[in-house]
Order: sequence, then structure tokens, then C-alpha cells
Amino acid sequence: MAGGVGVGGREPRRRRALVFPLPFQGHIDPMMHLAGALHARGLAVTVLHTRFNALRPGRHPEFRFVEVPDGVPANVAAAGRIIDVILAMNAAMEASPAPVLAALVSAMEAEDQEAAEGEGEPRAAACLFIDGNLLAVQRVAAALGLPTLVLRTGSAACLRCFLAYPMLHDKGYLPPQESNLDTPVPELPPLRVRDLFFSPVSSHEKVREVLARITETVRNSSGVVINTCEALEAAEMERLRGELAGLPLLLAAGPLHKLSSRSAGSSLLEQDRSCIAWLNARAPGSVLYVSFGSLAAMGAGEFQEVAWGLAGSGHPFLWVVRPKLVRGCDGVRLPDGFEDAVEGRGMVIRWAPQQEVLAHPAVGGFWTHAGWNSTLEGAGEGVPMICRPDAVDQMMNARYVQEVWGVGFELEGELERGRVGDAVRRLMEGAEMRERAKLLRRKMADCCLESSGSSQIAMDKLVSYILSL
Ligand code: UDP
Repeated sequence: MAGGVGVGGREPRRRRALVFPLPFQGHIDPMMHLAGALHARGLAVTVLHTRFNALRPGRHPEFRFVEVPDGVPANVAAAGRIIDVILAMNAAMEASPAPVLAALVSAMEAEDQEAAEGEGEPRAAACLFIDGNLLAVQRVAAALGLPTLVLRTGSAACLRCFLAYPMLHDKGYLPPQESNLDTPVPELPPLRVRDLFFSPVSSHEKVREVLARITETVRNSSGVVINTCEALEAAEMERLRGELAGLPLLLAAGPLHKLSSRSAGSSLLEQDRSCIAWLNARAPGSVLYVSFGSLAAMGAGEFQEVAWGLAGSGHPFLWVVRPKLVRGCDGVRLPDGFEDAVEGRGMVIRWAPQQEVLAHPAVGGFWTHAGWNSTLEGAGEGVPMICRPDAVDQMMNARYVQEVWGVGFELEGELERGRVGDAVRRLMEGAEMRERAKLLRRKMADCCLESSGSSQIAMDKLVSYILSL
């Protein structure tokens, strides 16, 4: 337990921040990176976590951990649909707030106990960082007088879309109809109706409810940190500052994984590191890295087309085939003959150390589902991208990759092996997107420069603000 001491066990920690991520990979990682960045700036950190997709405290000895009963019914947990889990968790916590209250009190009281045990002065919990999906937790924190800050793990454009959701309905853009998918949404350029937040597996009403609750959480908060940076979304941040003018704090402090040294510790699946040795033996810029994140799924036929498309592309590839990548299948089987066809050129693994893979010199392209973390990680390493968005905010991320930053393109329409092969060759053999991607990487790196970078300055502001609470 290192809660009472500073980096290297010397300096006392100034205050404590509590953090409570939503228990999904794409939400856990940025929150844990934020926790790491706060810890590096002298704050003690307590992580609240659920049993559903539980974190492993042993991997983070520098943080204190407190478990919060999540109340997610077993059948909802087993199905693992993010929107259903969010609604179930909030409903359970609202129906019975006592366990959350007890967990928060225990996280806050730990300070005094540490002091009593002679581990330094009490470092009162200054605030609670919550994922934007945890309105129920915010309500309990408010009852305790504990200020909440919200970490938005999506883009600034995505938050703008959430704020605009009621207007998008009033104006008839939503729910999307087959006939209006290509209609531009001038209120949210460069988005079209097909790029707006949408889930094919949850009803539109449920999506509306979840987004309305996020908006409420944001507006009720004492500040919002967005995992983005000025290099990517200066204009969107500017507009958001107008739209959320009443908020005490609104910061672009990302990419958070570049501001914190924490990496593999919060991975829910075991990372297969053998791919690094495999990449070490490949020529610079020669490998396409293919991953569709932690939740996106495809049909069995599409999976076959991806496999044979990669085989036919002629380019080396590293492909993450995680369990449940194919809809309705727990274990995924590669097509017969595929391994022989790609021997020496293709590697398939269950889960990758993605940030390290994207930073590897052998990787020259990224085929992604355009989850926001993956998009940030690819852009941050200057790797051009093929985007194949599946749901939620991925369509708008893909739109920005193609239309705003010009560092990749969306593979639209049917997944068919010939089109896949063409897309891979277009990405790996094209020069312009690669150049733009390198330029964007430099701009993003500038945002993370110690003391002068806009995201570092934002992080300093954040810490001063926390200390003032
Ligand atoms: N990721 C990983 N290994 C993999 C695939 C993904 O560590 O093989 C990580 C990736 O680095 C990213 C997160 O999982 O931080 C996925 O988040 P994202 O927002 O891209 O997509 P989601 O999984 O939420 O759809």
C-alpha cells in the first residue's frame, strides 16, 4: 500500500483523488491513465471498481482500491452489452444507493486511518472522477458533499453530439432513416446522419436515455476532462466551451496514455507479447495492424472475407482475433487453409499490447474499428488508418480521420475479400496519408510536451483546481 507516500516513497501526497471508471476496456484505460498522470503530479489515488470486469489491484500497487457492488444482473453481465450494463448498473445503484455510499465513505475515510497509522497527514479526498455514464454515483457523491469531475473517454465532437441529441430529434435527423443517412448535419460539421451516435443492438430510446444521463452528469459536475487534444479538436473544444459555458472547468488533456506511464496494467485480457518479437523481424513500415477493439463484432461470413482479404493483400499483417469477435461465437476458428496461405507473413493473436504495437517501427498501417482510444493511439503514433466503424461514436471518429485529419479512410459497404485487399494496398502503398499522419503525430506530441504542451498545461490546471477544492 503506497497511498501515503510520494513517488519513490519520499514526498507526502498532497490530496487524494478518487476515480471510478465504467468497467469496459475503452473506459478503464483512459481513467487509469488519468489516475497515473494525477499520481505523477503528487496526488494520492483511490480507484473504485466493480466486480463486473473487475480490475486487478495487484497490478497497481501505487493506488488504493475499493470495490463497489455494481448490481448488474448475471444475464446482463453475461450478454455484456455496454448500454444494457450502464442502465442496469445505474438502476441498481439508484434503487439501493447504500452500498455505493458505503464504498465512497470507506474510500474517503481511509485517509484518516492512514494518518492514524502514522503514514502522514490526512489527505482528504478532494474529488471523485467518474465516467460520464455514472450519474447514479454522482448523485451519491453529491449527497456526501464530494465534488465530481467527469472524464469523457470519447472525443469533444462526440460530447457535442450528445449535447445536441434533443435538437437532432426535434429537427428530424434522428432516429436515422435509410433515406437520410447521407444528409449532412450542418450543426455538427462534418458529420452526416450516418455518423451520429447510434447502436444497432440497443433500442433508440435506450440510447437517448443513456446520452441524456451523460449530459446531465456533465452539466452537474464540477468540471470535465476530455481525452482529446488541441491538435485534433481545437475547433470542437472552442464550440464546447460556448455550449458548456457554466462549467467551472473544461479541459482537453489527452491523449492520456501519453501523459502517464501506465500501460498493460489495466488490460482485461492477457496481452500476447510474442507479437513484438515477430514485429522486430519485419521491415520498417511494412506491417498492417488489424484490431477491432474490445466490443465490436462481425458476422461469420464477414470474418471469412476479412481473413481472405488480408491473405490476398500481399502485405504482412498482425491481426487481433479476440474471443467473441464473430457474433454469436465464443471461440473463433480461422478458415481452413488460411494459416498455410499466410505463413511467414501474417500473425494472429488473441489480444495485443496495442499501444506498443502501434509505436513499433515495423507497423505502417492500422485497420481499426475507430474506437476513440484506438483512433487516438493510431494518430498519436503517426500510423495511417483504414476505419471500419461498427457502432456508437466510431462512425464520427472515422469521419474525422478521413475528412478532418486526412490520415485514413473509411472502408464502406459490404466486406468482401477483393475490396479488403484493395483497401489494404491503398493504405500501405499510399504516400500522402502517411505524410499527413506523421505531421499529425508531431502536432499531437507537441500537445504533450512537458510544461509547454497544451495537454500538460491542462493537466497542471486540473491539479491546481483539485488542490483548490
Ligand atoms: N486494445 C488492446 N489490445 C488489443 C486491442 C485493443 O490493448 O488487442 C486496447 C486499445 O489499446 C484501446 C482499447 O483496447 O485502448 C480499446 O478502446 P477503443 O476505444 O479503441 O475501443 P472499444 O474497445 O471501446 O470499442
